[in-house]
Amino acid sequence: MKLNELSAGALKELLEAGTVSNCDVMAAVLDRIETVEESIGAFLTVRDRQALMREAEAVDRRRRKGERIGALAGLPVAVKDNICTEGVRTTCASKMLEFHVPPYDATVIARIKNADGIVLGKTNMDEFAMGSSTENSAFKITRNPHNLSYVPGGTSGGSAAAVAANETILAIGSDTGGSIRQPASFCGVVGLKPTYGRVSRFGLLAYGSSLDQIGTLTKTPADARLLLSVIAGHDPKDATSVGFKDGANAEPENLKPLKIGIPKEYFIQGVDSEVLACATRVTSVLRELGHEIIEITLPHTPYAVPTYYVIAAAEMSSNLARYDGCRYGYRSSSYASLRDMLVKTRTEGFGREVQRRILLGTFVLSAGYYDAYYEKAMKVRKLICSDFQEAFLQCDAIMTPVAPTPAFKIGEKTSDPLNMYLVDIFSVTANLAGLPGISIPFGHSSQGLPLSMQFLGRSGQEELLLQLSTDLWKASPE
Ligand code: GLN
Repeated sequence: MKLNELSAGALKELLEAGTVSNCDVMAAVLDRIETVEESIGAFLTVRDRQALMREAEAVDRRRRKGERIGALAGLPVAVKDNICTEGVRTTCASKMLEFHVPPYDATVIARIKNADGIVLGKTNMDEFAMGSSTENSAFKITRNPHNLSYVPGGTSGGSAAAVAANETILAIGSDTGGSIRQPASFCGVVGLKPTYGRVSRFGLLAYGSSLDQIGTLTKTPADARLLLSVIAGHDPKDATSVGFKDGANAEPENLKPLKIGIPKEYFIQGVDSEVLACATRVTSVLRELGHEIIEITLPHTPYAVPTYYVIAAAEMSSNLARYDGCRYGYRSSSYASLRDMLVKTRTEGFGREVQRRILLGTFVLSAGYYDAYYEKAMKVRKLICSDFQEAFLQCDAIMTPVAPTPAFKIGEKTSDPLNMYLVDIFSVTANLAGLPGISIPFGHSSQGLPLSMQFLGRSGQEELLLQLSTDLWKASPE
């Protein structure tokens, strides 16, 4: 195996043993990017080779001197382009922020650097994290490394593709309605969305603030645990950040037999037969591992997509009001008045999907419609949360598909926004309820595309999900 193909866990052992150096690892990753990036398109920015090699060399030098090296051991981390990186362009894949260079690091970036991780570059995504295929990027599409005619999923499609194509060792993304778990499942990597509040959102360009959460895309569950332990933790700069005591930093123990709930509302008509077959195989492995499988009900699931799209659009229409051409970002070059400048800037700077959501979000918040749409959606959100509370009285974890199908073809859904929204049917509930969720690969479809399952846990129980995933990982077909 080449160095860029190894997990962070495996590389850390080699680095500690002195068998390989950080320069070797960085060079392997950069060579791989040079070879495959043109066909995959995972990155919007790859940092300068010399600067990256210098940073790797600095870690090597410290290791040779016997100095303590942080948990990320000088390994490269690819970062979704909606997370602020000081001095490195952060575009949100939007023309609006094409030349935006943040003057500060997001808290997660500061934590990664503090743990001796090296920011490799910024990954492609759907504009402002709105979409499900990474086809809404203003700059380029990203292709699925397993088959270049297919999408990598979205919106963290660049991060997922970079990990799957071995163009990085670790990656981070954001998940507002499935944007880590769904691309992870389409690309066959491990995607973890932590509990809302577990990871600071400071420096994450806001989409739906009550739903947004930063998480990890990695080659193994153990790498997800490693990266989460670095990025998680209370941050006074994010008012919604929570300092969980248990979990992420704990050493894995042997998992006790669990009750795993299968919600009947997630195994419905329209779910691909190979996804269903994968679920059957996973449940039999779980039984062999000593867990009990029970049927549960999450009755308000059918309302999750409309509820999510009302709330997410409402929040984004308010969050994106700041892109007005006055303070920063794109400004139209010719206009006759202030009003004309605002209209032209936002018409030229935002793509079609973002504009559609601004209209939708403004509408559901407007006087006369607020009660009928936004307030109603907030009530249904409560019901969805109670569904989970009830379910977790009966079971310890919930297993569902991540999406109804494996990866779809590039261009297949771009002309039908509603069809694209429906891809999110099984992923948005975790965001509405603020729960942790993990997407874990398990075999391939007859077409050779990755198949995956999602596990949802109680608030703060990432560790249980990671242990379950580790066991499943060991039993997975390849
Ligand atoms: N498909 C969802 C949306 O477009 C995913 C968003 C996300 O998780 N960033 O809103």
